[in-house]
Amino acid sequence: MARYTGPVCRLCRREGMKLYLKGARCDGPKCPIVQRAPARNFPPGQHGQRRTRRPSEFGLQLREKQKVRRFYGVLETQFRKHYREADRRGGNTADNLLQVLETRLDNVVYRMGFADSRKQARQLVRHGHFTVNGRKTNIPSFIVKAGDAVSVRTESRRLEYFKDYNEVLNTRQAPDWIAMDNLQLAGRVASLPTRDQIQVPTFNEALIIEYYSR
Ligand code: SF4
Repeated sequence: MARYTGPVCRLCRREGMKLYLKGARCDGPKCPIVQRAPARNFPPGQHGQRRTRRPSEFGLQLREKQKVRRFYGVLETQFRKHYREADRRGGNTADNLLQVLETRLDNVVYRMGFADSRKQARQLVRHGHFTVNGRKTNIPSFIVKAGDAVSVRTESRRLEYFKDYNEVLNTRQAPDWIAMDNLQLAGRVASLPTRDQIQVPTFNEALIIEYYSR
């Protein structure tokens, strides 16, 4: 199961916006996107500070696709699969795409408040600390459905990381499409998220659909 292992702040610098890939640090003054001295809010690499030409239509579509893909920490092959699934569902493909991405197990674990970042959530899932409807599930790309219950595995509750974790959960707010039971370190997907329930930076999903419909 491949994943991106390189430096993550350069992904935000490439896209010119905060993608919130590093947890608490992203809200601090050391984030390169807001850091003043030395200012680093320009694309990475040797030619990052060169004057850029006006991007082509394809360039705009590509950048938008990369933003969303990187925000959710998904590689291209998997992202394309999610696009196909969104297309298959019928209705508005752009909304469906965000819904599919949002219901990936690693994202649900992150939204529930069990991790500071999607990357950390992915690792917790891979290490088998979660169950879906009582069954151990260690596949980050697993798509949860409405009514599914996600909880910390009984064996994992003894780990130092999860000890008194309900107190941490009490300080966090899960989105309203997830019903949390903080004491039980568990939650249930009350309904599939609608577009206005999905909190993401400003993306133009329509460009992604254009990108894949070429
Ligand atoms: Fe780095 Fe987070 Fe800032 Fe992105 S938002 S540049 S990951 S600190």
